[in-house]
Order: sequence, then C-alpha cells, then structure tokens
Amino acid sequence: MSIIRILPEAVANKIAAGEVVERPASVVKELLENSLDAGAARVEITAEGGGKRLIRIVDDGQGMTHDDALLAFERHATSKIRSGDDLFEISTLGFRGEALPSIAAVSRLVLETRHASENSGTRVEIAGGKLRDVKEVAWPHGTSIEVRDLFYITPARRKFLKSESTELGHIATLATHYALAHPEKSFRLSSLTNEILNVSPVANHRERLYQVLGGQTLEQLLEMAPVERCVLTPTSSEPSEAGEPAEEAPLIRVKGFISRPEIQKLNRNNIYFFVNRRLVRDRLILHAITEAYRNILPAGVFPVALVFLEIPPSEVDVNVHPSKTEVRFRHGSFIHDLVRDSIRQTLLSTRPVASFPISRPEPAPGLAVDAADVADALAEEPPLMRGPIMPPPPARPSAGGFTRDFHLSPARTEPRPQRLPLDSALAPYAPVTIPNSFSEPPTTAGDAPIQSPRELPLDLQPLGQVQESFIVAVNSDGLWIVDQHAAHERVLFDRHARLRQEKKIEVQRLLMPIIVQLKPEQQVTYQVIADELAANGFEVEPFGQRTVAIKAAPADLPADEVEKLMVEILDGASPENAALSLDELRGRITASISCHAAIKVNMPLEQTKMDWLLQALGGTDCPMTCPHGRPTVLRYGTKDLMKAFKRI
Ligand code: ADP
Ligand code: MG
Repeated sequence: MSIIRILPEAVANKIAAGEVVERPASVVKELLENSLDAGAARVEITAEGGGKRLIRIVDDGQGMTHDDALLAFERHATSKIRSGDDLFEISTLGFRGEALPSIAAVSRLVLETRHASENSGTRVEIAGGKLRDVKEVAWPHGTSIEVRDLFYITPARRKFLKSESTELGHIATLATHYALAHPEKSFRLSSLTNEILNVSPVANHRERLYQVLGGQTLEQLLEMAPVERCVLTPTSSEPSEAGEPAEEAPLIRVKGFISRPEIQKLNRNNIYFFVNRRLVRDRLILHAITEAYRNILPAGVFPVALVFLEIPPSEVDVNVHPSKTEVRFRHGSFIHDLVRDSIRQTLLSTRPVASFPISRPEPAPGLAVDAADVADALAEEPPLMRGPIMPPPPARPSAGGFTRDFHLSPARTEPRPQRLPLDSALAPYAPVTIPNSFSEPPTTAGDAPIQSPRELPLDLQPLGQVQESFIVAVNSDGLWIVDQHAAHERVLFDRHARLRQEKKIEVQRLLMPIIVQLKPEQQVTYQVIADELAANGFEVEPFGQRTVAIKAAPADLPADEVEKLMVEILDGASPENAALSLDELRGRITASISCHAAIKVNMPLEQTKMDWLLQALGGTDCPMTCPHGRPTVLRYGTKDLMKAFKRI
C-alpha cells in the first residue's frame, strides 16, 4: 500500500524551487518536520560532530510502508499534496517532496521504518543518491533516519560549514523552536557528550517555555490573552441583508508571550513568530511587534516575543520560499493590526493596577494634588533617610507649598560605610551590556543591585533631589530614584496624546512670531505634515521662500524650545521615512513635544511639584519608561538595603 505519489510535472513546477540542504541544521529541520507531519508524539535527535558526522532522528510517527520507503526518495514524491490546488491549502509542514532525495544525494543515509499495516519494517540504504541496499528488518514502529557525512561527495561545500559548535548551535536553536511550538510532544536533542534538550509533554506553552527557557526568562515575559477574530474583509465586513457578517469569514487566533518593557535586546533574534506552528520570518509581523512597543521601547532595541498565530491554511501561502520560512498572508494588514493590537493591549493591561492603591483619587493630569493630600503623605515619618541625613519633613506645608528644595548632596551623606552601587543600577539599561540572549541582563555583581521596578506605587514620599535631577523617594518597599525629566516626559506624553485624540490641544500664542528658515528637505516635510502640526497646536505660516513664521505653539512649551522642537519634528518626519504611518508620526510628534516641554535635569523642584510628578507618573499607562523607552524609575528595595548594610 502506498500513500506517496509523484507530483505531476505541472504541479512540481509551481513549487518554489531552490536548495533546502545548506547545513546540518537544515537537514534536522526537514527531518523533524517529516516526523511531526507523521504524527509523532516523541522525536529524538542525535547530532555528532555538529551534525556533520552524524544526524539521527527517531520518531514514533505513523512510519512508511515498504513501497513508500522507496518512493520517498524520488523527487517530488510526497503524501502531503496531490494537485496544484492543494498548494493553496497546506496544513502540513512539508509539501515539496524534495527533502529526502536532496539529503540522500549529499550524504550516506539509512532509513528504517515500519507502517502499522505491515508486519515487518524496511531498511533502505542510500549513499550519494545511489540506492545501496533495501531489506526487511524487525522494527517496532515509527521511523529512524540516519544521515552520515553530510556533503562528503562535495568537499568544497563541506568546507563552507562552520565549526562543530556553531553548527550544533544552529541545530539546538532549531530544535528549541519546534519544541516551543509543540508543547504536547516530547523532544530530545543530544550530542555525543551532552543532552541539550529533553522535554516531556506538557499542557500548554507556558509550561513548555518554562522547560525550555527557564523560570527567569518566563519572569520577564507577559502572557498575551488568546484573541480570536474573524477577518474583516471589505466583503465580509459589509453586512449581508440579515445584517450579519458573511459566514465564512476566516477565524484567526493569536496568542503568545512578550517581554516586559524593561527588557531590551539589541537585535530581533529573540522574536519568534509561528504560523500554524511553523516558525516564519515575516517583515510585516516584525513591524507589527515594533509598532506595539512604540514609545515603550527606544528605537533600535527590541523585545523578546513569541507569537503563535493559528489561521486557516487557505489564508496563508507557504509556497514562497524553498525553506518554507517565509509566508504570504491573504489578509496581511488585518493580521498585522491584530498582532500589534493584541501585544499593545497586553502591555497596557498587565500594568499591575492592584499595586496602585486607590486610597486617594488620581490627580487630574496637569493639576497639582490637593495640598492636604501632600501634607498627609508627609505627615508620616519616612521610614528611611531620617535622622542626620535628612531634616525631618515639616508636618504640614503652608498653603503655598514648599519653597525650599531638599538636596541629598554627597557632602551631607558622607561618610558612608558603603556606596550604593548607582553605576551598576544603570547597567541593565546600557544597551552594550545586554547579552543577545534570553538570559537576564547582567547586573554588576554586588551585594545590592538596584532593580528596575515593574510597578510604581502611589504612596511614594519624595525626600529631595540628587543633583537637582533625580528625585529620591521612599515608601515601605524601599528607596526609589526617579529621573525627573524622563518621568515628566511620560506624564506629558500621555496627556498630549489624549488631548490630541480629543482634538483639545491647548495652544499658546507667541508674543513675537518665531521665524524659522527651513532646509529644502525640511520644507518638503513641512508641506506634508502641516495639517498634523496644526492639529498639535502649531500655527505656522509661510514667510517668504523656505521660511515660516511660528505664531502659536503647544501650551506648556517654553518659548525658547519652540524652534528646536519644530526642527526636530521636521527632521524626524523626513521623506526618507516613507514608511512612517500617520500613527507613528503622531507618536513621534507627541514624544518630541513632551520632551521639550518636560522639566529638565538640573532644575530644583518644590516638594509639591515632586509629589505631583510622582502621583501623575503613577497614573500613566507605562510609568516605568519614558516615551523614548528609557527607564524613569529605579528601586533600591528594603531587602537590598539590609543586605548592603550586612544586616541579613
Ligand atoms: P515532503 O515532506 O515535502 O512530502 P519529503 O521528501 O520530506 O517530502 O518526504 C517525502 C515523503 O516521505 C513524505 O511525504 C512522507 O510521506 C514520507 N516521510 C518522510 N519522513 C517520514 C517520517 N518520519 N515518517 C513517516 N513518513 C515520512
Ligand atoms: Mg518533508
């Protein structure tokens, strides 16, 4: 009995042509996909010499009959598709019928397999594409394929392979991807000396992530709530006569894990995107993920993301690239937006609201909190930094608030038995120190590294400023240090974005118009974005050739910042950024306005102002990062203090 067929030439010609065997990892990929397509629940991979000397894959899948075991090595022989139409509805990982013949052509291959319909198994031996031996063997069930001496007949190609450890690394990465995508199956990968991966079946992706990547990585990730949406196409979104969307609107499911905003990676290597459990590279989805983190992560750094998309096979074309790692979606922009919105939603909604005690009303943005609230907050003696370090806070501020600002100058706090490792506190944010892996960014080994907190409590009591730039605050959790500029930027960003959306931007008329000369490219950009500038509170008029007069600007902006801001916006929206969407443009303008309007560093702040800022920051969507993605807050936990002082 045979289920494999040779594809008719007309169908074979429609298949994306190209080399599939580039390196040991590509052999593992093809064989692993075959095992999964054969319904295996357990796959064991062995690699020796980085896979150059030996790759063996044993599975407990359905196996092959004697006839199929031979047919499988013919070109375009596959059990997975029959006709050209099937190419548009592929539900298996493989479909090209090319992997086994291609691998057998460049190695010494031994296949052992048995199908349930036959009593004995079949052993096929091929070397350099030539059939060497076929015989009956006793074989339990499933399939084993051994690939030795890859590229032995093309020594020139063999030379191009990298070191054993590099090739093994590629194999390990690959096995990890498949293990992540198939939590209900077990996978084992070992080399001669090491067991690299060994995972038993688990109930869900979260448990599989824990098995494969460990608890520390899982800690850094947020789980996206699964989302299901019907594709809204122009036809399906138009209500039928009954007012219902068209019945057959395809259903798309998305779920996954994404990193918390404080996790920053230097490249996209930690972004995994699976379509129907196939790992794919897709620029559209990368864009969607980047968009979701806009104004949460700085430009040029990337999150960790594992996104799983389930989609009807007819909605995605996998016949785009021979290695099947690229796909084309029928409704690409719908999927793009769905992925972006699901991630964004997760980032915003998992802000742990519960930790923001609602004992007092959140201050309206832009308004100072009630003086009585400030007084209440200050009435409690701060748990830290009292005594000689700080003057005790006055019991109640006068109606005008504090005029005196506190300084934590080094002179007043010295001598200190141990320096707080402030330098190391910043290490997690210095991009060069962040390893390109799932592992936690290294904090400089010290007794008490300052942490980047994940939540901002509302009961922080500001004590003063360091260098008139960083607010020092305390609560029962410990010591908090807030970058006043970054924090205010975040507050203004949220406020401006909201007002912009409500079309209620506040405008200030300038006493004297500011005349700005534009470079040619700025002039071009100005014409393109003039409406958006107006919507953001700018009143700008042409004033001769390539010169404009700014007559009004967004409120809150110091007059001397107006010109700089305008130029920054024009440069940031230059036509080279053709891909800049209106949303991105708005985000950038808002970020620029907040940056220029925000209080600066080296600026003394009154107590009430500090109090207001911390409260207002706590009320924003992403209090922990500024719109450019830099951290706003550092925490030095009580436990860390105790450790630093060797009390525990
Ligand atoms: P494709 O996977 O594109 O069909 P391959 O050359 O990888 O092409 O495999 C050819 C055929 O051999 C498959 O269609 C399948 O029927 C059979 N086959 C390959 N590997 C296995 C396996 N591990 N278990 C059962 N059948 C297999
Ligand atoms: Mg295959």
